[in-house]
Amino acid sequence: MQNNAIDFKRQVTVKLADIKLQGALSRLQSRFVEGRSAVISEIADLPETRNAAAAIRDRVLNDLEHWLLQFEQQATARGAIVHWAETGEDVNRIVAEIARQHSVRTAAKSKSMVSEECGLNDALEQAGVEVMETDLGEYILQLAHEAPSHIVAPVVHKNKEEVADLFAEKHQLPRKTGIAELCREAREILRPAFLNADMGISGANFLVAETGSALIVTNEGNGRLVTTLPRVHVAITGIEKVVPTLEDVSTLLRLLPRSATGQSITNYVSVLTGTRGRDDHDGPEHFHIVLLDNGRSKLLGSEMQEMLRCIRCGACMNHCPVYQNIGGHAYGWVYPGPMGSILTPLLSGLEKSPDLPNASTFCGACAAVCPVKIPLPDLLRKLREKQMERGMKSHRETFMLKAWAWLALRPNLYALATRIAVRGMRLLGGKEGLLHRLPGAHGWSDGRDFPAPAGRTFRELYRHGSRK
Ligand code: SF4
Repeated sequence: MQNNAIDFKRQVTVKLADIKLQGALSRLQSRFVEGRSAVISEIADLPETRNAAAAIRDRVLNDLEHWLLQFEQQATARGAIVHWAETGEDVNRIVAEIARQHSVRTAAKSKSMVSEECGLNDALEQAGVEVMETDLGEYILQLAHEAPSHIVAPVVHKNKEEVADLFAEKHQLPRKTGIAELCREAREILRPAFLNADMGISGANFLVAETGSALIVTNEGNGRLVTTLPRVHVAITGIEKVVPTLEDVSTLLRLLPRSATGQSITNYVSVLTGTRGRDDHDGPEHFHIVLLDNGRSKLLGSEMQEMLRCIRCGACMNHCPVYQNIGGHAYGWVYPGPMGSILTPLLSGLEKSPDLPNASTFCGACAAVCPVKIPLPDLLRKLREKQMERGMKSHRETFMLKAWAWLALRPNLYALATRIAVRGMRLLGGKEGLLHRLPGAHGWSDGRDFPAPAGRTFRELYRHGSRK
């Protein structure tokens, strides 16, 4: 997927004015936020479970090489072939080569954010492989030539009527509007794609080091068809997805679906281990697992390592007031919302996504719901600090921050300056008590009125109150 994160500000303006999008985003509240809230309380020991989940992820990340090598050894012993890809181009080259070796003409694909990260579909099409997305959401996007806007619900930006129009146009069938009818129509179109595919491509939610398994968590049966029917299966995922044991996976699975879709469990959890055995009726003859680095290993041991704990549940974006208003496409790349505002600059460079670390109100909702306790606001703040260090902030912002820091280190002067400022702002607010424009903060105050301060500082009020 093309990285357009540099275009964030312009995209925000467009998305805020998009009435259809605003309507579609309102579903986040009812479907995901309320859904999560209803089922997360089923976990009686939620704080302990979140701590355990974070600890599992940290244990892996603190010794990632060890767990990856164990995974490779176990997977290889069960007939899989593990490939190591440093970049997205490497993934594309490796998968195209696998397709060439096995004379693959058609591929059925299940959802994989990493393949979006690499732009795999385009690369395979160029190599002469016809790729069919089989997750309903991804299939809709493929028909519409659009990118996902959410990591769990990729088509959350579209409403049912738009999908009905799209199907009628692309399938050349009478327009249907019932969800069940639309699903049935998609299923009938997709069925031959499963049966005829030479290769199945999937992602992996987790890789299990002790068994060499790739594990996928889905709500649609297509994942199982993609991974078991074609003679070749390629699973593509990031190196950070490994976990030591199946028991560790069971801990993470208590949190993942509840955080993601507000379900206690998902419809399918598939543990894919090795190639088809002699007595097996299904399963691939060839199982390739492609592990992508693409900048992840550089985060190990750094102050940003905690971001690699992410299990891609999407809860942070569902609860983020910024995402709720602009949707996923505005972020310009595969990963939207708070996690994307950190991951995109880390993986593709702060210079290519300078506005993303600022796409946060710092309300802390993302960190409060993150099942693996990633301190997302802290990481965003660290990225902002890096921007300051690298001189990426505007002269005005740099000057104002430096002036504030200088003042904050001189308490008496600070008290005097704030006394003058709050009185001045009180006067500016007049009888109405509202500031319509704040000097030096036009971008912020253009769209809202700021209540004028009471006229005295907190310290003055406190002193006054304590004398009573
Ligand atoms: S950062 Fe946390 S909440 Fe956001 S997708 Fe990752 S695991 Fe889920």
